[in-house]
Amino acid sequence: MGTIVVVGGGAAGMMAAITAAGNNKVILVERNDRLGKKLFITGKGRCNLTNACDIDRLFNAITTNPKFMYSSIYTFDNEAVIDFFNKAGLVTKVERGDRVFPASDHSSDVIGVLKTLINRNRNIEVMLNTRVQDIVVKDGCVTGVKTGTGEIKCDAVILATGGKSYPLTGSTGDGYNMAEKFGHTIKDIMPSLVPYNIKEAFCKELMGLSLKNVSFCIRSGKKTVFNEQGEMLFTHFGISGPLVIKSSAYIHRYLDKELSMYIDLKPALDREALDQRIVRDFKKNINKEFKNSLGELLPVKLIPVIIEITAIDPYKQVNSVTREERERLVDTIKHMELTFDGLRGLDEAIITKGGINTKEINPATMESKLVRRLYFAGEIIDVDALTGGFNLQVAWSTGRLAGMCAAEE
Ligand SMILES: Cc1cc2nc3c(=O)[nH]c(=O)nc-3n(C[C@H](O)[C@H](O)[C@H](O)COP(=O)(O)OP(=O)(O)OC[C@H]3O[C@@H](n4cnc5c(N)ncnc54)[C@H](O)[C@@H]3O)c2cc1C
Repeated sequence: MGTIVVVGGGAAGMMAAITAAGNNKVILVERNDRLGKKLFITGKGRCNLTNACDIDRLFNAITTNPKFMYSSIYTFDNEAVIDFFNKAGLVTKVERGDRVFPASDHSSDVIGVLKTLINRNRNIEVMLNTRVQDIVVKDGCVTGVKTGTGEIKCDAVILATGGKSYPLTGSTGDGYNMAEKFGHTIKDIMPSLVPYNIKEAFCKELMGLSLKNVSFCIRSGKKTVFNEQGEMLFTHFGISGPLVIKSSAYIHRYLDKELSMYIDLKPALDREALDQRIVRDFKKNINKEFKNSLGELLPVKLIPVIIEITAIDPYKQVNSVTREERERLVDTIKHMELTFDGLRGLDEAIITKGGINTKEINPATMESKLVRRLYFAGEIIDVDALTGGFNLQVAWSTGRLAGMCAAEE
């Protein structure tokens, strides 16, 4: 019977500990005073724990290094995750976009189920309020970890310290520093699934306005980087909401180039249909001022901003709006331009892009190729995915495989 230390009591670490504990003693070390602090805030407190899609969509949703994930996903895929939680007593439900949530809508129930499995297992010891500072390696093989109070000797370490986003949850990137000491390289750490700063001052005026069924398009030169329909939100710094957050998974490699962005406020209407619609609205409001003629077409808060962009006199009578002015109005509605001013920071990012270079990890075992008996699991690895439960799926799958393989030897 060996001793395995799991560093980090998040999603990946808890899964790894539960899996590794068969014939081994497992010590799960967490710096916080409780397990699963980040898990608690996932899915706006409801925890979107995985996605019930088919396997092709699952791999498509993994935006960085999907091939690295083959073994771990096929070992413990989304169906297996749902089955695991159901058998452990968590009732789940599937919502729009195949997102899986606990039926109770409480992330605390997901944590509760994991904690019960951990507490019930006599082979697992949990050490809270304990921050691992270093991994001890002798002759290329793990022999222990150092904490503030001494060394814990062990036969294997599973490093599951998470990324660097939302650092108040305890994920401050400690694992990157520990692994770097043994020659691991860290792919550039960047915020992802994150809102954007936008230069236009009108975003602040529109703060709180949510737009549904709009298109959001990002281009780098002639290349369309992102163009999808959905929901977005104006904030005091720029833009956020599901569509924007999703788009951020695709733009990192274009960040050093010029990016252009625009919103199509009426994607269901082509330019001609939109113009006819405006003409109809103008007829209905024939004796009104221009500023009072757009109420059926656009959200009230947006009207003054659109009018300012078009530079049409808001007080002129609708019947004196010229054809050329109407064309400008159509242009603005179909192509509301925004000037990108950078991603928001890691403290607001749902995930960290980058991490331990996947070339240095054996994908079939999650073991380091540089240090024997050192395993990685979860967001610390340079793998990231779209929203929809896919990032937790990565944590469960890699945690499971790392736990299995650390326990096997
Ligand atoms: C607001 C928000 C909402 C999200 N919602 C979803 C969602 O609904 N669905 C989804 O799939 N994904 C979601 N995610 C992403 C998901 O939470 C992460 O991808 C996932 O938690 C990663 O799991 P992990 O175990 O690798 O890391 P973490 O959950 O970050 O856990 C790492 C743990 O390691 C501990 N630790 C760090 N350093 C040390 C150290 N030196 N010693 C001891 N312990 C240490 C930390 O305290 C932490 O508890 C969300 C993220 C955020 C921020």
